[in-house]
Amino acid sequence: MGLVAVAAIVAGCGSQADTAKQAATAKANAALKLKQARAAKVAAAAKVKANELGQIPVLMFHRIIPNPGTNDDRTPQQFRADLERLVKDGYVPITASELVTGKIGIPAGKHPVVLTFDDSSPSQLTLTGTGEPAPDTAVAILREVAAKNPGFRPVATFYVTRDMFGKSVPEEQAQMLLWLKNNGFDIGNHTRDHHDLRTRSEKEVSEQIGSIAKQIDDLSKIKPDSIALPYGNQPRKKRLAAEGKNYHHAGVFLAGYTPAPSPFSKAFDPLGIPRIKAMEKKGDCAQFCSIAWLDWLKANPDMRYTSDGDLSTVAYPKFKNPYLRPAFAKWNLQY
Ligand SMILES: [Zn+2]
Repeated sequence: MGLVAVAAIVAGCGSQADTAKQAATAKANAALKLKQARAAKVAAAAKVKANELGQIPVLMFHRIIPNPGTNDDRTPQQFRADLERLVKDGYVPITASELVTGKIGIPAGKHPVVLTFDDSSPSQLTLTGTGEPAPDTAVAILREVAAKNPGFRPVATFYVTRDMFGKSVPEEQAQMLLWLKNNGFDIGNHTRDHHDLRTRSEKEVSEQIGSIAKQIDDLSKIKPDSIALPYGNQPRKKRLAAEGKNYHHAGVFLAGYTPAPSPFSKAFDPLGIPRIKAMEKKGDCAQFCSIAWLDWLKANPDMRYTSDGDLSTVAYPKFKNPYLRPAFAKWNLQY
């Protein structure tokens, strides 16, 4: 207030020197405001223990069916319980696209989680005659849990192959993709025929990825910006999973076995982003699947990504600074 009053008196005199003084005062005022705003952001980030260099679980699901044939499948009851656990632990879903492009817009104090579904099976999405998700499909369950828990975003990423949710007619395939697009879901590439790309030639690799990309684009005008590799196996030339004719992916997802680094961390490798299988603590899953990792992240909050609620900053405790990717240096908010 004092500075503003001085500026008003000075403005009354009208000389050039006074105008210069007035400009200097306004500049000082603006700088002070910026400094105060920054200090408020730092305090807010510290208050919620923001850690935007922390790890993010990317959960991998396959079919959601009442009688699982393999341990890749979850029952509708198990999937509902998986989501309710995430709600309880303070997670908010983001899409794979949002992860790989660093657009993690969730409230302060919340943790991002990515829900991914491979192989585009009808158990993930089947539409009724009026265009509603059929009961007990993955999409229907996710929307039910989100409706009961405000703030839990009903978003997920579907990695699509030629088996497009069991549809073979182009118009029906388009209905599925467009329904997902129009309801805020994300579509990713899972290759056309689900071959193991490690054993294929460069030509076959780019053809497997590019042909399904073109089909998805022709049907729905969607250009996926991530891919999940069949069996998690990278082609011998890793770059080919990200770049080729008809496709450009900002991120390439694997199949195992740890949480993913933050896209703002130096540990982030866009050509090999790990995912976690959704599964109880049994056998190999005692340590390396979803329940085990969610327990670990809960017990180690300094390792987990926690948002400061501000999309324009990357907030984290000061001593983690060496891990910030240089590309995000100007976004940094240390406390
Ligand atoms: Zn698959």
